[in-house]
Amino acid sequence: MNDRTPTSYDPHVIEPRRQAAWRARDAFATPPAESDRPHRYIKPSAPFTSGNIHIGHVRSYSIGDAYARFQRARGEDVLFAFGFDAFGLPAELGAIDRGEPPSDWVARCAEHMTGQLQRLGYSFDWTRTFMSSDALMYRWSQWLFLTLLDAGLIYRGTGAVDWCDTCQTTLATIQVEDGGLCWRCHNPVRLIQRPQWNLRISPYLQEADKRLAELADSGIWDEVALSSQRFVLGRVDGEEIDLVDSGGETLTVFTPHGDAVALAQFVLISPRHPGVERWIVDPTVREQLEDLRSGGLERDARDAEAIPLVDTGRTLPSPADAEPLPVLISPVVDGRFGATAVLGIPARDRTDALIAQRLGLQVNDDPCDETSAGSVNEGAGESPPSVAGLHPAMRYRANDFSISRQRSWGTPIPIVYCEGDCGAVPVPEEQLPVLLPLDLTPTGAGNPLAEREDFVRTTCPRCGGPAQRETDTLDCHFDALWLWVPVCVPPAERERPLDEIFALEDLRTWLPCERVVAGSDSGNFVFDQRIVTKALRDIGPLAFLTDGEPFAGCLFHEMVIRDGRKMSKHLGNVVDPDELVARYGADTVRLATLYAARPQRALNWSDSAVLRCHRFLTQVWDFSQAQLAATTTVQSGGDRPSGEGDQARDTTEHLRLKLAQWTERGVQKITEEMLALEMHSAVRDVMRLFDRIKDYEKRVLARSEELGAANRDALLDALTVLAQLLAPLAPNIAEELWIALGNDGDTQTPWPGVSSVVPA
Ligand SMILES: [Zn+2]
Ligand SMILES: [Zn+2]
Repeated sequence: MNDRTPTSYDPHVIEPRRQAAWRARDAFATPPAESDRPHRYIKPSAPFTSGNIHIGHVRSYSIGDAYARFQRARGEDVLFAFGFDAFGLPAELGAIDRGEPPSDWVARCAEHMTGQLQRLGYSFDWTRTFMSSDALMYRWSQWLFLTLLDAGLIYRGTGAVDWCDTCQTTLATIQVEDGGLCWRCHNPVRLIQRPQWNLRISPYLQEADKRLAELADSGIWDEVALSSQRFVLGRVDGEEIDLVDSGGETLTVFTPHGDAVALAQFVLISPRHPGVERWIVDPTVREQLEDLRSGGLERDARDAEAIPLVDTGRTLPSPADAEPLPVLISPVVDGRFGATAVLGIPARDRTDALIAQRLGLQVNDDPCDETSAGSVNEGAGESPPSVAGLHPAMRYRANDFSISRQRSWGTPIPIVYCEGDCGAVPVPEEQLPVLLPLDLTPTGAGNPLAEREDFVRTTCPRCGGPAQRETDTLDCHFDALWLWVPVCVPPAERERPLDEIFALEDLRTWLPCERVVAGSDSGNFVFDQRIVTKALRDIGPLAFLTDGEPFAGCLFHEMVIRDGRKMSKHLGNVVDPDELVARYGADTVRLATLYAARPQRALNWSDSAVLRCHRFLTQVWDFSQAQLAATTTVQSGGDRPSGEGDQARDTTEHLRLKLAQWTERGVQKITEEMLALEMHSAVRDVMRLFDRIKDYEKRVLARSEELGAANRDALLDALTVLAQLLAPLAPNIAEELWIALGNDGDTQTPWPGVSSVVPA
C-alpha cells in the first residue's frame, strides 16, 4: 500500500520520473496508419539547428504539445514529430564562428536541442525526427528540384546579388551591414549579376487565392495565418482593358482605379512581363532592358522617385481618346502588381504621380478630387468619363523567387555542366543523392564547394564526356518546401526510392496535416508549401490531395517579447528556458507560456506568470496530497462511514450537486477551448475549477465538522477530473496526480468523458 504521507511539490523528482515512464512505455509512438480511428498529424515548426531552444520555441511547442496530448487523450491517433532545418546560413555562420565543419556543428546543436526539448517533456515521436542535412533527407530536395524542373516550374535566369570583392563571395541581406559594408571584412559590397535557379509560382497564384477562401470557411485556419497568406499573395482587384496600337499590336493593361481609366497618361510594363519583347524595336532600349533584368536594384533605387524607367519610344492609344500613352518598362510594376502591364493614372495614384513628374507630364485633373481646381464649383456627381471595354480583373504581387545560393552548407543542386555540347544536364534520378562533402570548413570567403576538385569534376550523364557540377546549393527555403512530409513515413521505409515513398498508404492516412502550429513569421514558408503541394498534385506524387492544400488547419502565434521589445543578447533581455526549468520545473514554464497570452498576441514576458503558475501547481499538489492523506486515515481507521448513515449528507447534498455541475461545465468549456487551441483560456478555466473545488470543501466544512465519505469521494472525483484536464497543459504533475488518485499510470490518461480503455 502506498505511503500517504503528504509530499511537497518537487518537479525535479516528478518530472524525470514521468519522462522515464513515457520513454519506457513508448507513450508517443506514432500509431500505425491502418487503424480506423481519426488521424491527426499535428505539425510543429522545424527549428533551425542553430544551438539553443529559446523561449519562443517553448511557447510554440507548448501550444502544439497541449493540442497533441489533448487529441491523444480523446482517443485519436496523433502524429507529432518534426525534422531539424539543418542547412542554411545560421548554421553555416555558427560553424564559421567555431572554425569547424557545419556538419559537426549542427549535429552537436541538434543533440543539445533534443535534450532541452526532452527535459521540457514534449510528446514528440523522436523516432521520426530527422536532419534536413542528412543525405537520405536532402535527396528529397534534389528529387523535388528535378521533378519541378521537368515540369517547367524551375528555370535558370540571372539575378542581382550582393557581392564582396575582398571575401570573393555573395552575401545574404543580413550579411550586409548598414552603409552597404561586408559583415566579415567591412569593405563596400556591390551588386553583381549571377545565374540563379528560380521557382516559378505564378501558375498557381489564382488557385492559391481561391483555396484561401475555402480555408477561411473551414474555421480551423486562424485569422493571423489567413492574413499572412493574403499578404504574401498580395491580391489587387481592379479592371483590365485591351489597348491596340496603330500596327495592330495588343496589350492588356490593368489598373486598380477602374473608374479613372479615362485619366490614364502612360503605360508601365514589368521587365518580366511575358510579352515585353514585342514592345522593343530600338536596340538601345533592348540594352537598357537587359541591364534592368540583370542589374537588380540598388537599395536606394527601389522607390518611385528613383526606380529605373525605360522609354520604349512606343505609344498606345488612350482608352478615352485623349493624348496617346507612352509605353515604359519599369520594375516598379513587379512589387505592386506582379509581372504585368498597368495604366499610369497620376491623378489617382501617388506612385504614378511621382513617375509623371519624372516624365515631365502635366497631370490630368481628377474631377472626383475635391482639391483639384474646378471640382468644387462644378459640383459633386461628376466623374471621369466611363470607358468601354473594361473587364473586372485581378493581379497578384507574389513573384517567382531564387532558390539557389552560393554557399557550401546546403543541398547540392543536381545539375552538371557538360564541357561538350550538352549544356546544363540534370543528374538522373537513380544517381541521387549528389553527395555534399562533409569535411568542408567554411571561413566566409569564397565558396569552398567550388574549390573541391573531387566534387566539381564529373562526367556528363548525357554524352559521357567531362563535366562540372553546379557548385551553388539550394537555399534552405527550398528544403522547407518538403520538410513537412517525411515524418509521415515510417522510419523503416525511409530508404526507399521517393516514388515508392509517395505511394505509401501512410501519406494518404496522415495528409493533409490536421494543424500547423508555427510562429507568425512563417507566412512565406506556408505559402510556398501550399504552392508546391498543388504542383506535386498535378505532377502526380500528391494527387490524393485534391485541393492541393497540405494543411487543413493552421495556427500562427506571435512571438515572445520582453519590456515591449524583441529579445536579443544585445539588449540583455533574453529569457533562458533552461534556467527557468532548473528553478521551477518544466510544467510551470510550459503552463506560464500558455497562460500569459492568447496565441494571436505577442507574449510580453514577465516573471509574474511563472510565479502565478508555480503557485497554482504547488497548491494543486498540496491540496491533493492533503485530501489523499485524509482519505487514507479514514480508511485505515477501518470504520469509513458508508455514506448512507452520514449525518452531513442531507445538508450538503446540494453542494455535491453544485460541484458536479461546476465540474461538468468546466469539462465542456475547456474541451471547446482545447479544440480551438485557446490554451490560455483553458489554463484559466482549470484554475477556476480548482478554486471551486477548494470552495466546495470550505462550504462543506462550514456546515459540518468533517467532510464525510460522500463528500470526500465527490471531492476526489473532482480532483481526478482536474488532473485529466491539466494533463495536456502540465503533463508531468497531472499524471502523478492521476496515479496518486488511484488510476492506471501505464496508459494514456483519458480526457474526461472518454473511456480509458483505448484499444491498442
Ligand atoms: Zn568581405
Ligand atoms: Zn555532355
